[in-house]
Amino acid sequence: MKPLNADLHCHSTVSDGLLAPAELVRRAQGNGVELLALTDHDELGGLAAARATADEIGLRFVDGVEVSISWGDDQTVHIVGLAVDPANAALLEGLQQVRSGRDSRAGRMAAELDKVGIHGAYDGALRHVGNPALISRSHFARYIVEQGYAKDVKSVFEHWLAKGKPGYVEHSWATLEDALRWIVGADGTAVIAHPGRYRLSQAERRELFAAFKDLGGRGIEVLSGVQKDDEVRELSRIAREFGFLASRGSDFHGPGESWIDLGRMPDLPEDLTPVWSQL
Ligand code: AMP
Ligand code: MN
Ligand code: MN
Ligand code: MN
Repeated sequence: MKPLNADLHCHSTVSDGLLAPAELVRRAQGNGVELLALTDHDELGGLAAARATADEIGLRFVDGVEVSISWGDDQTVHIVGLAVDPANAALLEGLQQVRSGRDSRAGRMAAELDKVGIHGAYDGALRHVGNPALISRSHFARYIVEQGYAKDVKSVFEHWLAKGKPGYVEHSWATLEDALRWIVGADGTAVIAHPGRYRLSQAERRELFAAFKDLGGRGIEVLSGVQKDDEVRELSRIAREFGFLASRGSDFHGPGESWIDLGRMPDLPEDLTPVWSQL
């Protein structure tokens, strides 16, 4: 049987994506996606519009979110919640708390960037944001590209915004416990986003997986954006060992700015249980 083309991770203009929710849903269907989750950072505000369009064009849709958490020694980790109840009060309140730290963080980032010759970055980044409460490094990156300091968003992260670079500032997001409580409390399924992208040792990674599982976490993204074969093999092995469901998502942010377009990832290894079989 042909595997379902599920894409359970992408972003709209409600967070740091470049397409409005309705446009994103239409593009997904155009790309052959059969099941789509919108997973904006720390915000559910795009779900109603995305679902309305999905219903209109006959695309199966899952309400999602990508929660920013801090783990260990200033590591940011992302937890995706799938099939959450978008009206759940504790989830809404928790996400509101996470968002509330972004503005002061952005001010601190702009001050650091100013010291290395990139001026006006706070106001500049704000011009790229749909919702100012969700000001993110992506919006700073777009401003820095627009000003001609770098050729693309990727190189902005390499020079200024990745951990250890001059425009990076430490920040406390939610805790792993918070994220799991909010997602599970809203009847959602929690999935660790892009586990290969964190700078964690093998031991730290295993600690994260074990803690996540203890708190009710159900899955990991075995396929996220573009990945090397050996990383997919390693994440598949972890999914089997921990009994995790396997998710598949593009982490699409916009045309020309993403690793891969909506729905264009390879299929999951056949022996893994896809997370969508349980949603
Ligand atoms: P923030 O939530 O403000 O820390 O921003 C995180 C976002 O920055 C991620 O969700 C990505 O969209 C983007 N990002 C992080 N690292 C990179 C990178 N190396 N290249 C391009 N975008 C990145
Ligand atoms: Mn993002
Ligand atoms: Mn992420
Ligand atoms: Mn994402």
